Amino acid sequence: MSRLVMKFGGTSVADIDRIKNVARHVKREVDAGHEVAVIVSAMAGETNKLVEYCRQTSVLHDAREYDAIVAAGEQVTSGLLAIALQAIGVNARSWQGWQIPVLTSNQHGSARIEGIDGAEIVKRFKERREVAVVAGFQGLHKETGRITTLGRGGSDTSAVAVAAAIRADRCDIYTDVDGVYTTDPRVVPKARRLDRIAFEEMLEMASLGAKVMQVRSIELGMVHRVRIFVRSSFDKPEDIDPHGVPPGTLICDEEEILEQQTVTGIAFSKDEAQISIRRVQDKPGIAAAIFGPLAEANINVDMIVQNVSADGATTDLTFTVPAADFERAKDTLSVAKAQIGYARLDGATDVTKVSVIGVGMRSHAGVAAKAFRALADRGINIRAITTSEIKFSVLIDAAYTELAVRTLHSLYGLDKS
Ligand code: ADP
Ligand code: ASP
Ligand code: MG
Repeated sequence: MSRLVMKFGGTSVADIDRIKNVARHVKREVDAGHEVAVIVSAMAGETNKLVEYCRQTSVLHDAREYDAIVAAGEQVTSGLLAIALQAIGVNARSWQGWQIPVLTSNQHGSARIEGIDGAEIVKRFKERREVAVVAGFQGLHKETGRITTLGRGGSDTSAVAVAAAIRADRCDIYTDVDGVYTTDPRVVPKARRLDRIAFEEMLEMASLGAKVMQVRSIELGMVHRVRIFVRSSFDKPEDIDPHGVPPGTLICDEEEILEQQTVTGIAFSKDEAQISIRRVQDKPGIAAAIFGPLAEANINVDMIVQNVSADGATTDLTFTVPAADFERAKDTLSVAKAQIGYARLDGATDVTKVSVIGVGMRSHAGVAAKAFRALADRGINIRAITTSEIKFSVLIDAAYTELAVRTLHSLYGLDKS
């Protein structure tokens, strides 16, 4: 007997038929003798709808009320799945974040989980063979007692956190693809499913744009050593051999991966904006004058490039910020213009950050250089570059996103045969 967490995302619970399908997946595991906690997302599109309601009511709304509203989607699916399970003879009970409780920080809209007491769930496994159906994405601020949410895609984090709290043997993430691919399979049909991916690589893939898992869920999995298995909810429950190994991707420690490639995957993100500050005096303290105010405004700066201005005497600084913070960043820099002293500020939002990831890069030189050549051969201009131990990223015109991703995917031998 194992203890399992099964998480189902929005498309997996998109309508009543899909919820009934999920119930059969859960029954399969219960019948095999396992103790099961299920984490559900809202029905596909539901959270977007609720976010939009908030925006339409008032653009500048109270974050505490935003959370009260957007947490509602998961309340519905948790109740519906409990009913669907009961209807097929499985003992089940729904749990909202505040009922468990999932205690979080006070950052409404992107709260961090700080503690979960899994004792009651485990007690009910033992005493009643009861399945816990937990509403993902939501928690409770430990001091104010108000409902919080964990940021978009946060049900993944709920699932991993519950798995850690109840010491589950595995956390299965059921989604609309059958695993983690070398890149988004919806953009590159030649993408290949990975049997295994190291936590560190998955963390980079997720941070750099692969939305298959929320970043914080991987951080938690790494810290609490949760075995995360990404698989499809679209397989018919009846077709799954309870003793076989289903298709999917195990997120695990690097040591568990025998055949390590230099490059594991490619991620891309269109949620970036570029800012260039032209003709800045090249003197000590300038970087602090620019990035200090941005940091105070809580704006994350990512890629930074400094080069000589066209006049040869001053310097140009180019960097990226999240697209959502673009206007605020420009305003902040305009206010600080006198202090910084620059001639012009240019910006662009039609840019994409393409990133190449692999733990094998630690021991191989020249991996990035190969990409720069291949992109140049396709006429793709690189606006900025960043590198770190196990990845590098390039900023390019958004129009070339697919071409760049496909080019690099082939270049590193990732295409499926
Ligand atoms: P869920 O609703 O189940 O949480 P998401 O939409 O959040 O599902 O995540 C699944 C999607 O992530 C897939 O449909 C796929 O388009 C996208 N995706 C992006 N990069 C990858 C990747 N490298 N591997 C698999 N899926 C990816
Ligand atoms: N329903 C939430 C969202 O759409 C959480 C999730 O699906 O993981 O972001
Ligand atoms: Mg998701």
